Amino acid sequence: MVFSACPQLWGQIFRDYILDKRRNKPYVYRMKSDIETIKTPLDADDLNLVLLAKEYSDEDKARELFESLRWPHGAVCPRCKNDGSTKPNSKLTPQADSKRAVRKGVYFCGACRKQFTATIGTVLEGSHIPISKWLMALFIISSSKKAVSAHQLHRMLGMTYKAAWFMAHRIRFALGDKTQKLSGVVEVDETYVGGKGDRRKRFSRQTPVIALIEQGGNIKTRVVPSVTAKNLGAALHECVEKTAVLCTDEHAGYKKDGKQFKSHHAVNHSKFEYTVQKPDGVEAGVNHCESFFSLLKRGVYGSWHCVSREHLQKYSNEFAFRWNTRRLTDGARMATAVPMMENRRLMYRPPVS
Ligand SMILES: [Zn+2]
Repeated sequence: MVFSACPQLWGQIFRDYILDKRRNKPYVYRMKSDIETIKTPLDADDLNLVLLAKEYSDEDKARELFESLRWPHGAVCPRCKNDGSTKPNSKLTPQADSKRAVRKGVYFCGACRKQFTATIGTVLEGSHIPISKWLMALFIISSSKKAVSAHQLHRMLGMTYKAAWFMAHRIRFALGDKTQKLSGVVEVDETYVGGKGDRRKRFSRQTPVIALIEQGGNIKTRVVPSVTAKNLGAALHECVEKTAVLCTDEHAGYKKDGKQFKSHHAVNHSKFEYTVQKPDGVEAGVNHCESFFSLLKRGVYGSWHCVSREHLQKYSNEFAFRWNTRRLTDGARMATAVPMMENRRLMYRPPVS
């Protein structure tokens, strides 16, 4: 009672006890007004390799750029998705004289009261590779029309081949299919990738890739163990709306499942049919698929040289991403790729809980 009546004595008396000593806080909590809008520092169309090397080689600036691309409207907690509209998130600024180790770019969630950074829940989480190198690799991969090899990244970015391969594969994984089901007129075709060697063994070494392309729209790719009616049907039902018009070649595997869509047009390549004008106004054909396969194989023959069956879906993702963002500039394409990293984490093995 005596102490509550004399506030000036509190510090003097309580600090005599060891647990009452002031903690050396590693962070300063910034108010919401300081961080409520993370402004994009530049127009994404202006991004290029020179600018990245000149302005964003510094790790702090690279992190700010990554944050602004991932959270254009302010920090969002990756755990509880709190965007700070009702319970504001705070940015923790490291104290200059802190005796404890501090991380930069740490936020504190006002809802779940846990710390988070911009890399949490993305392929960058837990990586020791600087964010500036991740951004450079992302720009190079998203802007190289015929792909880039991990060996080239290793030479260009000054890192080991293993680290470059690790980074490139995680970027390809993050660029995986996130688009909606295809509708309108959808072309479907399959190709075989790889398979060098003895002619008799070549076929068994090839890996089938199915491409599904909405005319004038997006593409989806599926790597399958074999081209059977079951695998083709599964890809169709997974990727295409029932209201879509299908266009395929004369492969028998499409016949049964093709009946479940609005209509199904098959062009007969053995009769030299490639583009056929149908009575319903549809220009039936699979030329867009052939174009995509040509691009994919330029990557295999010209850049990657050897791709394993296990990783072919990730290589296809990379080309599919560039196809879907073909109307954007290189900088805008990279800016589109960063939010796609959300909820993408590729680990060597699942963590032990
Ligand atoms: Zn939270």
